Amino acid sequence: MLGDTWGDYLRLTASGLRFKQGIPRRLKPLASRARFQAQVQVALPQDPRLVLVTDLDGTLLAGDPQERQFLYRWLADRREQVLHIYATGRELRSIAALFHDPEHPELRQPHLVISDVGCTVACGESLQVVPMLVEPIEALWGPCAPRVRALTDGQPGLSPQPLWSQRRHAFYADPELLDPLLLERLALEGVDCLFSDGRYLDVLPAGVNKGSTLQRVLALLELEGVPVLVAGDSLNDLAMFEAGYPGVMVGNAEAALRAQLPQLSNTYLARAHGCGGILEGLAHFGFGPLLSPLV
Ligand SMILES: [Mg+2]
Repeated sequence: MLGDTWGDYLRLTASGLRFKQGIPRRLKPLASRARFQAQVQVALPQDPRLVLVTDLDGTLLAGDPQERQFLYRWLADRREQVLHIYATGRELRSIAALFHDPEHPELRQPHLVISDVGCTVACGESLQVVPMLVEPIEALWGPCAPRVRALTDGQPGLSPQPLWSQRRHAFYADPELLDPLLLERLALEGVDCLFSDGRYLDVLPAGVNKGSTLQRVLALLELEGVPVLVAGDSLNDLAMFEAGYPGVMVGNAEAALRAQLPQLSNTYLARAHGCGGILEGLAHFGFGPLLSPLV
């Protein structure tokens, strides 16, 4: 039986089967966007006008209740025009729980999820991981994981976060108690350490963060020319701002992130908190017309 992929075609031709007039249509190599779509259950917008990438805690989950409700309803109404991606330090189980949380009754599932601070990419509806993105990260992390665990087990000032994080180690950290040499020892293992919100320490595969994973997702989606807007509030969002996308730092952003503002030429500091800040940023970057009601 004939397969459908470029790899199948190569195997068939290598085994002696030849086609007289080029490659049959269904055996042509799939574009990366088509391969991506084949690995998620949600239907991605065909021709989005904006890719909106939002952190969760302190950003999409924060702000005035009326502004939250407005933004959540707008995202639902504009689902075909706005490709929405969560980019969060949460892991997938914690994200799934949000949709049953009475605190966020109108929160809608996004098209895609970047979770575990960039170490996981999943379909926004099924929350099933996207293998073409996650497998390379898994390969990077696998050899590091036991060595990181050996270095961090029992360390003063560190306690593992009670979650099912993947392709990283996540801790609650007390900087006052941490061994100052620990981060140097971890760096020698070829991993990245990321402090955020003054209390979280993530140990990540080298070079993997929200910004680098977002860049890989967007490249695979082949959305050249479609504007992107990122929004966040803590240091684990810094890599998205540094990637150069237009960015909204919400008004409640942590001080350590705000201190980076002078180096971020394309980032707008909103006055409003959480969702209000996102709405303010949308208007600031010229997406006001998208905010008007659908007719
Ligand atoms: Mg946050």
